[in-house]
Amino acid sequence: MFAAQLDRLSGLAASLGHAGWALLLLAPFVGSLLGVLIRRLAEGRPIVRGRSHCERCGARLTPRDLVPLISWLAARGRCRQCGHPLGWFNPGVELAALAVAAIALAVDGAEHAWLDCLLGWWLLALAWIDARQWLLPDVLTLPLLVLGLLLAALFTPEDLADHAAAAILGYVALRAVAWLYERLRHCEGLGQGDAKLFAAAGAWLGIAALPQVILVAALAALVTAAGLSLAGTRMRAHSALPFGPFLALATWLLWLLGSFSR
Ligand SMILES: [Zn+2]
Repeated sequence: MFAAQLDRLSGLAASLGHAGWALLLLAPFVGSLLGVLIRRLAEGRPIVRGRSHCERCGARLTPRDLVPLISWLAARGRCRQCGHPLGWFNPGVELAALAVAAIALAVDGAEHAWLDCLLGWWLLALAWIDARQWLLPDVLTLPLLVLGLLLAALFTPEDLADHAAAAILGYVALRAVAWLYERLRHCEGLGQGDAKLFAAAGAWLGIAALPQVILVAALAALVTAAGLSLAGTRMRAHSALPFGPFLALATWLLWLLGSFSR
């Protein structure tokens, strides 16, 4: 019985190929870069400045401390100098980046997974920053929009007009909803950043996918809100969740689903 399972595992390992394994090995390193990006953008600090150090004793992290996941596990999540807990943030982002690569490989195979990963990692950073700071920085949403249009121009030029129209429509639609919400409720429900992220989703996915993105994002937000209130968090009419993480999740899901028909 075990032999059969081992056979299946080694078959799976072989089917990944060098490209697949490279992507899986690369993923945690991308995760630590995303961690730096998320921290710096969420705190409004420049991206390239200073090195990571322990928050309590200020000990600088040496290369030995910067191997994703492994260093954290080896040090049992504590600073090697003073024993201060390092927290779950870094291993969390690294694991999430690894999960993105694993899902992309499972869905699309090694040949196409790199593009799924590029989008998935980008959206992961956006979702995480929005969850922390209620902020979707332009420096991430706008290049993502441009990249979606570039890819459409490169791979499916006949669809470029559709994707460009989807970007405009996505932005206008969410701004209209936000305007309506503010009129009715006299408080901000959706930010500018949400509209820009939805525009980027349009640039990547095209017009036909926009309603599905909103539907999936809204459902995921509802399920999360229900889960939070079951878990004891009181949800009132004015308490709200950032919408960006759900938009990001829905965009990536629709992209992966679409890849079956590509
Ligand atoms: Zn320390």
